[in-house]
Amino acid sequence: MTKNMKILRNRGFRWILLMCGLLAIIALTGMNVLSLYDLRDRMVENEQDRRIDQLDEINDNVMYQILQPLRGLHRLELEPINSTLEQTGNLPNNITQVLARSSQSPFFDGIYYTPESTDLCADGRNTTVYKFDPTENKINSISDYPELICDGIGLVRTKTKIQLNDLNYRWNNDWEFDTHRSLNIGLINVSESRMLGYITLLLDKDYIINEVFPPILTNYFKDSDESGIAVWVRSWPGGDILATNDPDIEYDSDIVDHRMGFSGSGFFDNWSIHMAFLKSPVTTTYNATLVKNLVVLGVAMLFLTGALLFMFFTAQRERQLAQRQASFLANVTHELKTPLAVMQAAGENISDGRVTEGKRLKQYGEHIHNESIRLRSMIEKLLDVARVDSGQNSIKSAPYCVYDLLKNYLVENREYIENKGFEVEFIASDKSSLAMLDSDNFETIVSNLTENAIKYSSEDKYFKFQVSSDKGHVFVSITDRGIGIRKRDQRNIFKKFYRVEDSDSMSNKVKGHGLGLSIVKNMVDMNGGDIEVSSTFGEGTTFILSFPKLENENVDPAPVQKTEDTASLNQKIEKHTEHVG
Ligand code: ADP
Repeated sequence: MTKNMKILRNRGFRWILLMCGLLAIIALTGMNVLSLYDLRDRMVENEQDRRIDQLDEINDNVMYQILQPLRGLHRLELEPINSTLEQTGNLPNNITQVLARSSQSPFFDGIYYTPESTDLCADGRNTTVYKFDPTENKINSISDYPELICDGIGLVRTKTKIQLNDLNYRWNNDWEFDTHRSLNIGLINVSESRMLGYITLLLDKDYIINEVFPPILTNYFKDSDESGIAVWVRSWPGGDILATNDPDIEYDSDIVDHRMGFSGSGFFDNWSIHMAFLKSPVTTTYNATLVKNLVVLGVAMLFLTGALLFMFFTAQRERQLAQRQASFLANVTHELKTPLAVMQAAGENISDGRVTEGKRLKQYGEHIHNESIRLRSMIEKLLDVARVDSGQNSIKSAPYCVYDLLKNYLVENREYIENKGFEVEFIASDKSSLAMLDSDNFETIVSNLTENAIKYSSEDKYFKFQVSSDKGHVFVSITDRGIGIRKRDQRNIFKKFYRVEDSDSMSNKVKGHGLGLSIVKNMVDMNGGDIEVSSTFGEGTTFILSFPKLENENVDPAPVQKTEDTASLNQKIEKHTEHVG
């Protein structure tokens, strides 16, 4: 397998790994989001279940309060009840105590005793029923009793008779509610498995509706604003609302989430409790928790994705840099060797005395001169890079007149540029602004940009150097009409070792190592400036340097070194500048 194939395979593999990583992140996020929603729903459901369970508690609580005074009845000796009644006209003491206790309960509105021997419903109103008198702790025979006693006794008699068929039945009493109207207790002779009589306790409906339900509902469910729950006790089949925890919420069967009948031996059989889960603060809290969790999850996943992508692309860039560096080393070695070989051969020919003729001697001398210049510029570039890399690139800045610096560069290099066939234009709209600069750096910057413009020129060989300024900056721009740089390459050209390497691009054919602009950028930065490129592919490029203007007017500009034998060129440029600037 060739090296290229290996690189391609590795690159493909890395991309697959990245995709797997991203997919894993997406899958994990999806799973977490789903389970967060699930958790929220379950929490809300649990909360609702808990509230529904509270309805059972209310049921049991009210029933407990009603039955409370009758506790202990199952332990009493009941057999002598009718014989005592015959002999004394009253019930035995133990029963009388229970009835006295019950008469104190606000739930009851009259207590009656009916012996089994009285076939109440069949006999109608002629039969004697006993009513308990709490003031005298005694039962008195009455003939005018409420008719509903008959219904209650009928219910408990039927139920108790069924119980007595069970041979294992061991209780001395059994009870049954006749809806909200009465509590009926059947008294049993356990040893003989027969009924003795019935205690009927009439229930005070108004007390239950007005005094029992409202406080208990408020106690459990507070105001609906607070709990997000509305509860109604409704009568059936009429549908009247008997009690509620929040009178402000109107009953509407559409908003009811849960309906429950009262339970326990006919207990409030014709009433039911309806519950509606409104916008509960609990649900709002769970929603807020959900949102908080989602945000944290989102941020974490973004970080994770960001870190993954960052690591991937950084590794990619490092690899590219390493590749570029490796090819740079190979090129540099080759390019250092070439001028050396030329110089060595030319020098050898001269020193051997093989070349003596004047014209050819001059030719060889020029070869050696040109190659040594090439070699020097390469070595300087390498040294610049080494300095930048090692961070030892210290600068010696002084307040320079930017116009003077650029003019000086042009005076020194104009002939060189023109010899390459270029037309040079120099426009200065600012000839006096100062900036703190290292003059050597400035020269390196401008010469790199100039060399590039020469290297990447087209048929139209033209140069424009400009100096201008605004309130706070001095600008130097260098414009060419060369091959131009595509938009996508423009943000990369300042990177070390970056070269535009299109197969169709001309820059591919020009020699270079992708170092010039990175050195330029570094030096511009060190001098507190900025560099921008503006280019149209196929039309030309402008590099714009900007340096902070030195505001202090009292500062004298540092002298710009001038080459002596360029006085005439200097004049020429001055003339041109006066004309344009
Ligand atoms: P080198 O010239 O050694 O390749 P540089 O860092 O100086 O490296 O330039 C980087 C790339 O920018 C070059 O490869 C070239 O494609 C592009 N470039 C730089 N200056 C110009 C210019 N004036 N016109 C067109 N392309 C340019």
